[in-house]
Amino acid sequence: MKVLVINAGSSSLKYQLIDMENEAVIAKGGIDRIGLEGSKLKHKANGEETVIEKDMHNHEEAIQLVLETLTDAKVGVISSMDEIGAVGHRVVHGGDKFACSVKITDEVIEMMESLIDLAPLHNPANLQGIAACKAVMPNTPMVGVFDTAFHQTMPAISYIYGIPYEAYEDFKVRRYGFHGSSHRFVSARCAEILGKKPEELNIVSCHLGNGSSIAAVKGGKCLDTTMGLTPIEGLPMGTRCGNIDPALIRFLMNKYNMTIDEMDSYLNKKSGMLGISGVSSDFRDLSAAAEAGNKRAQLALDIFCYNVKKFIGAYAAAMGGVDAIVFTAGVGENDDVVRAGSVTGLEFLGAKMNYELNKTVHGKETIVSTDDSAVKIVVIPTNEELVIARDTAELANL
Ligand code: ADP
Repeated sequence: MKVLVINAGSSSLKYQLIDMENEAVIAKGGIDRIGLEGSKLKHKANGEETVIEKDMHNHEEAIQLVLETLTDAKVGVISSMDEIGAVGHRVVHGGDKFACSVKITDEVIEMMESLIDLAPLHNPANLQGIAACKAVMPNTPMVGVFDTAFHQTMPAISYIYGIPYEAYEDFKVRRYGFHGSSHRFVSARCAEILGKKPEELNIVSCHLGNGSSIAAVKGGKCLDTTMGLTPIEGLPMGTRCGNIDPALIRFLMNKYNMTIDEMDSYLNKKSGMLGISGVSSDFRDLSAAAEAGNKRAQLALDIFCYNVKKFIGAYAAAMGGVDAIVFTAGVGENDDVVRAGSVTGLEFLGAKMNYELNKTVHGKETIVSTDDSAVKIVVIPTNEELVIARDTAELANL
């Protein structure tokens, strides 16, 4: 049976069709600029890419085009929509209502709607994707997989902020964490690679991409993570500030005469690697600029690695030791210099990197620590779509 995985953004929609017999991706693609001029679909199947330019006014038209393309006589991969056994939706915020994936019902949709406050940019788009699929394929079961779900095992000492407790009671202000499907996938895979049960391991999972977060995974369960109420907390990222002194918000709003919305954009879109370097949010651009002698690009990279290292140390302390450090996502899988910079100096913890081997590893599952390293350092490509597809197939009883 085949599962369609949907990741709906406010003006974009990504999809993968996965054959659950062998977990192979049969087709994948994305649509940009939904509701805007110049919307188009890029579809990849059988090693070929097809681009379809068509005005799509809403998510329903977008899903319709995805289904037409998947069943198209020329570039399609299935003969009819009936071959799609279920649809799995990525949902960014599950609040404290969803600790695992769920089959989508009207009641679940209502619960998701009640969480819009917590993720005003993401959840409405996810809900639009769900509504569009429901309209176009009303009889196909759907499952919601939440970025926050894996982190619901965190204890209160990890998720309660140092502000009046009423903010938690009244408005559910607390740490939630994100990238949960990725941390769940790579930490489980890490245990498999090391031939251990997840219960036996303390893992620090480093999801380093455009958005980055680190999770302390103790015995297969999340104990703590760097992102918080929203995905801006923790590490400085491509364009997000990460941890800052909250007092600088008022200070800079006064100095720059900014509104709260301008401040929000400043911290989310103009900060992090981009803000520090003044060059780019992309680590490839930063490395090139640093190599060419740009000091601020080098500083941005150094700050990033220093922060990754600090959290690895903090989480080793929180878990009472660490058995494995995992690197995943765009930067973690590909950028050997960032990986090396993030673990240099952690020999005291028992983490020794094989630097020569590390240099050669890009996007491939590999243990990059030395044979005698007590702490294993492992590169594992993440696969959030597969997590969504597996949960969907299970919950839809495929
Ligand atoms: P997200 O899903 O958060 O948008 P990704 O996990 O796809 O991000 O990571 C994107 C980032 O990964 C890019 O901004 C880029 O900096 C980095 N990246 C991708 N490939 C490489 C590479 N070969 N070397 C260094 N960095 C890379």
